[in-house]
Amino acid sequence: MKALVYHGNKDLRLETVPEPKPGPGQVKLDIEYCGICATDIEEYLYGPVFISSDSPNPVTGRKMPLTTGHEVVATVAELGHGVTDPKVGDRVVLNGVLTCRTCRWCRLGETSQCPSMAAIGFAIDGGLADSVVWPAEQTVVLPANVSSKEAALVEPASVAVHAVRRSAASAGDRVAVIGAGTVGLLALQALKAQGAEVFAVDTRQMSLDLAAELGADAVVNPDAQDARDTLAELTEGIGPDIVIDAAGAATTPELAVGSVRRGGLVLLVAIYTSTPRFDFNSLVAAEVRMAGSLAYGQEDVEEAVRLIAAGQMKTLPLVSDVIRLDQVIEIGFPRMISPDKDIFRILVTPR
Ligand SMILES: [Zn+2]
Ligand SMILES: [Zn+2]
Repeated sequence: MKALVYHGNKDLRLETVPEPKPGPGQVKLDIEYCGICATDIEEYLYGPVFISSDSPNPVTGRKMPLTTGHEVVATVAELGHGVTDPKVGDRVVLNGVLTCRTCRWCRLGETSQCPSMAAIGFAIDGGLADSVVWPAEQTVVLPANVSSKEAALVEPASVAVHAVRRSAASAGDRVAVIGAGTVGLLALQALKAQGAEVFAVDTRQMSLDLAAELGADAVVNPDAQDARDTLAELTEGIGPDIVIDAAGAATTPELAVGSVRRGGLVLLVAIYTSTPRFDFNSLVAAEVRMAGSLAYGQEDVEEAVRLIAAGQMKTLPLVSDVIRLDQVIEIGFPRMISPDKDIFRILVTPR
């Protein structure tokens, strides 16, 4: 079968590799779609960052070269020994994070902090291929009313759901989301489903237009107006209860801390490519709490599927294009890297 294999910095190769066989408890999945994510671009341009490069991952025993791709929707093609669920022909999405199940974090249910965490496409072969094998119990079967294309965004949706869960946002909370990209727009919808009032902040007009379409109560463009003042005006001068930074720019943590209300929460769900500076006294004096959010757990994947099935999370507006596996490097990556990027997600289909 064909697979897009990561060999190192700027070295991705479309190769013919052996068909994977499902081991006990595993299923073989035929890929329908696999999304390209900003993390894939970062690994390509600046990596290896998250991909296991030096020593094998303790859970999977694997290191690169590895098949890349972690945003997978697939059809069950074959069952390994002992598997009764899912069934052959079921369409599934994955909890793409394997964990040791024995460490303190795993036992506390904080699986995204397992020190041995192995993510699909980073520590085990991923979905930019014809097929993949995966533990049956870490699949989530899609209901009939969720199309495979809609489900292709379940992975970033799970990241967004996890962030919203960590923010503990509830009905009546006022939340600003900085960065209306894929994760930001999915978080916005998860917040609206919780009954929160949501303000989207971004400098890209197409992102703000989509945020408004997807239910934002207000949109703020820091290039056109003072974002901090505007967020204050929207909240009787006190600022949002929660500010989520899904942008990860050099200046966004400062904007988040500067605009959240006294005693509020700043939640960081972006990966910062530079080291932002700000005055920590602004946290102390205003008793602002700050927390990070990484990846997701099984319950976040299940919640993302539930929100999409219930029509509370729309993902199709975020699908900008569908390309073939042999077009990823020449067409997919340059469009994702372009400084005037006019897309959200590009899906890849091997067929
Ligand atoms: Zn991703
Ligand atoms: Zn663990």
